[in-house]
Amino acid sequence: MTQLSEDCFAHGGALMRLDEALSLVAERIQPIPGIESIPLTTAYGRILACDLIASNDVPPHANSAVDGYAVYYDDLLPGRETVLTLVGRIAAGRPFARRVRRGKVLRVLTGAIMPVGESDDGPDTVFMQEDCEVNGTRVTFPSGIERGANCRLQGEDVTAGKKLFATGRRLRAADLGLAAAIGREVLAVRTRLRVALFSTGDEVQEPGTDLEPGQIYDSNRVALGALLTSLGCAVSDFGILADDLQKTADGIAEAAKNHDLIISSGGVSVGEEDHVRAVLESQGNVDIWRLAIKPGRPLILGTVRTAACPVPYLGLPGNPAAVIVTFLKFARPLILRLAGASEQSPRVYPVRAGFSHKKKKERREYIQCVLTVGADGSFTASKAGRQGAGILSVVSAADGLVELPEEMEYVRCGSMVDFLPFSEVE
Ligand code: AMP
Ligand code: MG
Repeated sequence: MTQLSEDCFAHGGALMRLDEALSLVAERIQPIPGIESIPLTTAYGRILACDLIASNDVPPHANSAVDGYAVYYDDLLPGRETVLTLVGRIAAGRPFARRVRRGKVLRVLTGAIMPVGESDDGPDTVFMQEDCEVNGTRVTFPSGIERGANCRLQGEDVTAGKKLFATGRRLRAADLGLAAAIGREVLAVRTRLRVALFSTGDEVQEPGTDLEPGQIYDSNRVALGALLTSLGCAVSDFGILADDLQKTADGIAEAAKNHDLIISSGGVSVGEEDHVRAVLESQGNVDIWRLAIKPGRPLILGTVRTAACPVPYLGLPGNPAAVIVTFLKFARPLILRLAGASEQSPRVYPVRAGFSHKKKKERREYIQCVLTVGADGSFTASKAGRQGAGILSVVSAADGLVELPEEMEYVRCGSMVDFLPFSEVE
């Protein structure tokens, strides 16, 4: 008699390690070629398509960092107070029309361009107004200030000619600010990745409808749509494909038109209603089928032939928690690569395990955990609830994933483990 499988992950056949699968992605997936110029105001999260070089200094001129009084440092008496004569005022954006002689001071407001001197560089040091005593045009300065205090130098933030960002940078808010600071109003970015998204399964129904016995609502598509959108993809919703070979084939062929990537969930396991693999084998090819990870083993990566060029196809598991884990650990780097982003892997952080756990060798395992801070400031990761590929509420309650490597067999409570916060990848 055949033996019962030890668990639902015991299906025979070779499973690919996650590292190996990601190396295949790095080898075989080339970024989409499209580039477009877009206004800076719409470039948040977009991927830069060429290096960004600073065309001017930031700040473009030396200016005061505070509201106060600009003096020549060399006019100050060492070790005692100095009294100097006030001759004018400069506000931000309104340069002083005259040159300033030695022995004179100017009232300066924050951001005001530093005044020019008569025969030299001009006042070079700014006292904060709180430190000065003003009596008509007589201003008394305390001793002890450093040369150049409270004065921002031209180009101290960015020097003209400096490479601000390399191509492939996913633009953050501060990046856009910097691009504006060098005067750019338009940036060349990669076109958005056009992703066709669908769910599979006769039991899977749209939220908002009434369920018949045996049916469930589609939770994967809305979650995947959100994850794809947050990565800057243009998502086309292809709905739910029935468990039928011909319908699956037709749906995939349709989705392959005008898209850079197709993503689905479900229908990629070993049941006789799992048709995606058969369709890929006849309409394209399969590069990866089944990963050695938990949750998330049933996963397929291949391509679909089209009249133009082959379109990558990523079939994620059907179980909702496995969908999130495989998206973050596998789909995300694949999508970023295809979209032209050159990002480092997300950082994982060492934390203490707040649980003991036995695991299978040769399989990478992800535990959905919440973090707590101890009295000494160190973090402990505890299971967010009962772990299961189909249990989405625990993913939702978790702060991130503890990643247990393939070779590990047992996690001892209190030992150090790697923690990937969802905030690094969502
Ligand atoms: P499958 O791989 O198609 O056999 O699906 C595995 C499990 O995930 C089954 O229990 C499905 O009912 C469930 N599932 C598949 N697709 C979805 C979906 N879009 N939303 C929620 N659950 C799903
Ligand atoms: Mg199914």
